[in-house]
Amino acid sequence: LAMTTPTNDSVRQLDQQYVFHSWSAQEGRHPLVIAGGKGCRLWDYEGHRYLDFSSQLVNTNIGAQHPKVIEAIKAQAEQLTTIAPATANLARGEAARLILSHVSDRFSKVFFTNAGADANENAIRMARLYTGRDKVLSSYRSYHGNTGSAICATGDWRRLPNDYARGHVHFFTPYLYRSEFNAATEEEECAAALRHLRRIIECEGPSTIAAILLETIPGTAGILMPPEGYLKGVEALAREFGIVLIMDEVMAGFGRTGRWFTFQHYGIEPDLITFAKGVNSGYVPAGGVILSNEISHFFDNRMFPGGLTYSGHPLAMAAIVATITAMEDEGIVEHAARIGDDIIAPALRRLAERCPIVGDVRGKGVFHAIELVSDRETRAPLPAAQMAVLKADLLARGMLSFIAENRIHVVPPCVVTVEEAEEGLAIIEAALTALARSQD
Ligand code: PLP
Repeated sequence: LAMTTPTNDSVRQLDQQYVFHSWSAQEGRHPLVIAGGKGCRLWDYEGHRYLDFSSQLVNTNIGAQHPKVIEAIKAQAEQLTTIAPATANLARGEAARLILSHVSDRFSKVFFTNAGADANENAIRMARLYTGRDKVLSSYRSYHGNTGSAICATGDWRRLPNDYARGHVHFFTPYLYRSEFNAATEEEECAAALRHLRRIIECEGPSTIAAILLETIPGTAGILMPPEGYLKGVEALAREFGIVLIMDEVMAGFGRTGRWFTFQHYGIEPDLITFAKGVNSGYVPAGGVILSNEISHFFDNRMFPGGLTYSGHPLAMAAIVATITAMEDEGIVEHAARIGDDIIAPALRRLAERCPIVGDVRGKGVFHAIELVSDRETRAPLPAAQMAVLKADLLARGMLSFIAENRIHVVPPCVVTVEEAEEGLAIIEAALTALARSQD
């Protein structure tokens, strides 16, 4: 097979025969075949081109095949492809220094992992060691990764078949459109959510709680924008009770919302920050934990009992250095902010006025969601069968989309041009119009 020219069919067949896939039954899959890409475009072996409005799993913030990053990976491969984590390595040191240059001087060290799940795993471990406490509080509306503690910290359905770790407690974070607190305004939602969190802390026992782990803006759960004052309130509760505040910036970090880190919009300072995805757009797998001075110093004369063979892998580190440098040089973070403010947000507001199946729109930068409903009054979510029709229609119109439950997430790469953003938004409007018409 490897000797013959690949086609869509041959590549799909190879996959179906030999590859075991995540989050799915293995039979009946018909995976999309992708052969190559550049920027926001991807293509298959037969010349079909797609506009990527998903950034894959919301990770290719600098788009596909950025030449500077490819060049840096090649150069590092020539120099040294792999080295043990205990050694000093130039690319690793530079990657850590560059990451730290985008946070305040409250932070002083970076621990590198292979991806986002093990970043959260290790952050949780650090918080437990630092506090001598056990419990981890996190949101029901969250995803934190698919490993032991990370999947149990996850609030969504993916936790339920994997709920084997101990010490995890969940609570509700604000989501006015589907309020758990019967709130009518953002202010009421915020105040009620903070009262609820305080009650959870009191009832669980503050002296048993190591960490509060939150996505700054819950991503896969629906791009749920925290109301004004919520994160400040969470930070204050964490400080009051000596609880470590971990912000999961795996999806929201590195430019996605028009800042290097999304918590920077909200005037808060966590104790640990977890990252992955956008740090090098996934060109080589990498993630990590940014440690505050205090937590970092705690381990100055105490062993940190944790490690990974590929912690700070040179190819991943070279990709991080080149990615951050390209993002700085090309103003990619500022660009993402402008595309969000000038193009995506106004277009989604117009869409909400024109399409009755749009129940709510929200977001920042290239991190927006369109929530679809079958009835605006009851807010009944658009059923899964119709979402599947919509996803297929978007693909047929040449767009790769990120669909979760009853939502389209508008999450193109941060480098999306004005023309590409407008093209994608027009495709979404055409597909929603067609769907609404088919229901009449
Ligand atoms: N945290 C958040 C907020 C995520 O969105 C994800 C992945 O989607 C993860 C953690 C897990 O990252 P990974 O899949 O790289 O392990």
